[in-house]
Amino acid sequence: MKTKYIFVTGGVTSSLGKGIISSSLGVLLKSRGYKITIQKFDPYFNIDSGTLNPYEHGECFVTSDGYETDLDLGHYERFLNQITTHKNNVTSGLIYKTVIDNERKGKYLGKTVQVIPHITNEIKRRIKILDKIKYYNIIIVEIGGTVGDIEILPYLETVRQLQWELGYTNSIVIHLTLLPYIFATGEIKTKPTQHSIRNLMENGVQADFLVCRTEQHISNNIRKKLSLFCNISPTHVIESINTKIIYDIPNLLHIQNFDKKVLKTLNILSLKQPNLDPWNNFIKKYKNPQYKITIAIVGKYVALHDSYKSIKESLIHAGTHQKIFVNIKWINSYIIKTKNIIKIFHGISGILIAPGFGNRGIQGKILASEYARINNIPFLGICLGMQVAMIEFAKNVLNKPDADSCEINPYTKDPIIILMKNQQNIKHKGGSMRLGNLKCVLKKNSKIFSIYGQEQIIERHRHRYEFNNVYLKLFTNAGMTISGINPDTALVEVIELDNHIFFIGVQFHPEYKSTIINPHPIFLSFVKESKNYVNQPLLTIK
Ligand code: GLN
Repeated sequence: MKTKYIFVTGGVTSSLGKGIISSSLGVLLKSRGYKITIQKFDPYFNIDSGTLNPYEHGECFVTSDGYETDLDLGHYERFLNQITTHKNNVTSGLIYKTVIDNERKGKYLGKTVQVIPHITNEIKRRIKILDKIKYYNIIIVEIGGTVGDIEILPYLETVRQLQWELGYTNSIVIHLTLLPYIFATGEIKTKPTQHSIRNLMENGVQADFLVCRTEQHISNNIRKKLSLFCNISPTHVIESINTKIIYDIPNLLHIQNFDKKVLKTLNILSLKQPNLDPWNNFIKKYKNPQYKITIAIVGKYVALHDSYKSIKESLIHAGTHQKIFVNIKWINSYIIKTKNIIKIFHGISGILIAPGFGNRGIQGKILASEYARINNIPFLGICLGMQVAMIEFAKNVLNKPDADSCEINPYTKDPIIILMKNQQNIKHKGGSMRLGNLKCVLKKNSKIFSIYGQEQIIERHRHRYEFNNVYLKLFTNAGMTISGINPDTALVEVIELDNHIFFIGVQFHPEYKSTIINPHPIFLSFVKESKNYVNQPLLTIK
């Protein structure tokens, strides 16, 4: 079977959830045994998401091959339970850079370099490259942004050309749109969708399906109206009603035969039966928890929960598989002070210190780490969270009040966390951290070893600073075990406290590997220990 393409565009407004719709359709198609992948085009000019503040677009997701991508890639991986690579996320910045670099190399010698055909050809090349590496039955291509935006035009032109080249039975267009509901008149409105579809048509693209975000069920009249104005069969108007739980979306689409209709339109006629059992088992457990716990996520971008999307989802995966509902208390580290710490952490069963950069809110993180350590509260520190736990330990256990990370204070007397050697001459910020999959060897008989049940692991990274091994003996002598190290560089990857129920810090990011079907072992263990945690009389910080 020739690879088929599904293009997903968005209309009316941004943030309608194209990533979730693409992932949900992906789950349905994969459940029928098709080999699928999802690619995202982002129409902004950053080369990747690595240099974006999380408040702009949510968290930066890191692929196993070390690419800093859009958070939608996280949805793809978590829903589909399979990895993506840097080829799955392409920005306009990358497209234009490639074309301009090619021009300088003389690749288009004699030609005027233009949006059409040079930019569109580069977009096409990046779409087609996916099935050159690995065969896929179906590739879903999500076009970021909203139809009507200036920056989306080269992508729409590429879709138009590709549909013509591939043939209309080998590619389809799904347009995700919003149907606003006017309470005063009790009506669903179709006009914005009509305009959005008209805009697509002006660019030579005809949608095959409309997926409608709506607060109310869509009547047959609305379907007919949309059909008349948008050249789409009423049966191809799919409802995507608001739901509290994103995991319900694949089923909501499935009961409307969306996957079947998509496959038919792609001329895939001998349909394989779907097996949604693993997915539905997860939902069943999610909706019927036996326990409820609250875990605190301490970070500095907590006002936007998407900044810590993968961590939040990892806690849900780990909780659900153990029938535990994990309630998250979001804590801005900046507000944590000795005088309010008991109140802030009242009722929580675990503390997670999130990754981060820069010094804002560091003092609060150090206090949170100390609080977890002295009160035997389950603790997980991720990346900066691990570094903070080591700074706190140095300050309060090793009696080094000036202990710090050089990221916070480059002139500290006790540089516990230092810039990695191979980072010292790096001036450019983009894509230059220690990124992606790297090995780590776990110490036998450690807590972390019992969690993974194996000696060598591979996890994803994103950092510039590391633990200063000059201090290693002092730490281990005082009760902190270095339980994971990189076998090639001796860089400290995992730390744990000997006399603590669960106190683990990891330099890597386990949250990027947790999926709905395969929760991450560290999160499973952290959530389990948090559930077992019995509130003890709390010691305050001096
Ligand atoms: N800022 C720290 C470093 O670069 C931690 C990074 C992170 O938490 N991802 O090492």
